[in-house]
Amino acid sequence: MINPKKTSSGQSPPKSLPYGHLEPHHSPNLLKFLFDSSNDAIIINDLKGIITGWNKAAERIYGYTASEIIGKHVSTLAPKGRRNLVPGLLRKLSEGKKIQELEAERVRKDGALIFVSITLSPIKDRSGVIIAFSAIVRDITNRKKVTHALEESERKYRHLIEYANDAIFIADADTGIIVDANMKAAELTGRKVEELIGMHQTKLHPPEYKAKYGRIFRSQVKEGHGVVDSVYVLRKDGTYVPVEISAGVISGNSKTLIQGIFRNISERKKVEDLKKEFLAMAAHELKTPVTTLKLVSQAHIAKFKRYGSDQIKLEELELIDRELERLTQLINDILDETRLESGKLFLKPEQTNLGKLLKNVIKKMQLISKQKLVLKKVPGKLCVIVDQQRIEQVLVNLISNAIKYSDRGTKITIGAKKEGGKVLVWVTDEGIGISKAHQNLIFDRFYQVKEKGLNGFGLGLYITKQIIMQHRGKIWIESEPGKGSTFYFTLQQC
Ligand code: ADP
Repeated sequence: MINPKKTSSGQSPPKSLPYGHLEPHHSPNLLKFLFDSSNDAIIINDLKGIITGWNKAAERIYGYTASEIIGKHVSTLAPKGRRNLVPGLLRKLSEGKKIQELEAERVRKDGALIFVSITLSPIKDRSGVIIAFSAIVRDITNRKKVTHALEESERKYRHLIEYANDAIFIADADTGIIVDANMKAAELTGRKVEELIGMHQTKLHPPEYKAKYGRIFRSQVKEGHGVVDSVYVLRKDGTYVPVEISAGVISGNSKTLIQGIFRNISERKKVEDLKKEFLAMAAHELKTPVTTLKLVSQAHIAKFKRYGSDQIKLEELELIDRELERLTQLINDILDETRLESGKLFLKPEQTNLGKLLKNVIKKMQLISKQKLVLKKVPGKLCVIVDQQRIEQVLVNLISNAIKYSDRGTKITIGAKKEGGKVLVWVTDEGIGISKAHQNLIFDRFYQVKEKGLNGFGLGLYITKQIIMQHRGKIWIESEPGKGSTFYFTLQQC
């Protein structure tokens, strides 16, 4: 509807209908038809911004009928906080400027916010004088929503990629050129993200792995499914990092991309290597007592057959017993290590008289010790909450180490006392001691002070520490090479 006569500003209406230069050459009917049938809103307003024309599409987009809105100021259509921008636009139009495809937020009659693209133009009369302004408005709310959703999903995707724990590379499947990479990728390769982008993906790997990498790459592209494989990454400084790659194809509209997720498996490799080393050592360690046992028992069988039981010597039976004891200990250590690793070392804590437990262990250990074991006077009734078997195991480990690493004729002292709300236990020897450099490491799995190591797996102190930690206690060492060592640990009082 167009109402050129009525303006709320009280201005005299424009002399001609506000169709600009169209009017002289076209019939008013055609203009009205175009005006009403346009899919875009067409809004006409006077020089002060009062709405004088409003087509059907405007009614659909803004929800106002022509009669409701004609006579009102165009700023009615702007959200409250944006109305102050309208005078600036009107000023530009009065200067004869056109404003193309301005994207703005507007409000519908029902209060809903919509996004529109507005093209504003001044309307001139025959003599070129600006008499009104036109606004052609396209509702782009849906387009905006889609763009917004895309931006949102792009943001989420970036967030996922940036904060992923693994290195992520995205490469063009046709050219093999890296088109995107995250911070972890930069960390893994020792290169900047900008440096990675544009690089050929094969450059990520050492040349000797080119063939293997090529196979992974081809199977992704040809078969289009994810692949998991382990290869090495060549860092900028020339070092190799073992990685596990899981790669897959992302098919887009225009391009096929390959996404490679690289997991640094250096730590896992280290543990695997350690395990391999351990297995080799374990096999060797277990073989020694088994060989002795076999030899001694074969000799016994031979003697028994020839001379009967008279010739069998007690020391030889004792040797068998000792070797069996050692074998059992080694096997138990391996079992405990496995239990600890899988979190299956369960405790059965109970109230225990520590003095009594210490006495029993010392009595047993004295039988196999060439050193004198001395129990310092323990204050009467030291009650602790412990798994008796496991604490006995801790004491046996510490005392056997003290025996193993000190000379015949020296003394091993064991003591316990209350301290700081806990019970402190210690085992002191006068043996070879441990240098500062090794003191922090001896509680690690498989660690042995090599040059001085006697047979064992380097598991004893690791298991000991885990047992003490499970009792919510602490364990530490004070030692001086050549003078001896004291191992301390704490337990919970009853
Ligand atoms: P192992 O089976 O080798 O004895 P442990 O875990 O019990 O393993 O000990 C780790 C290392 O700590 C040993 O190899 C040894 O070098 C050192 N160690 C342990 N206890 C003592 C000690 N009382 N005196 C000197 N060195 C010790």
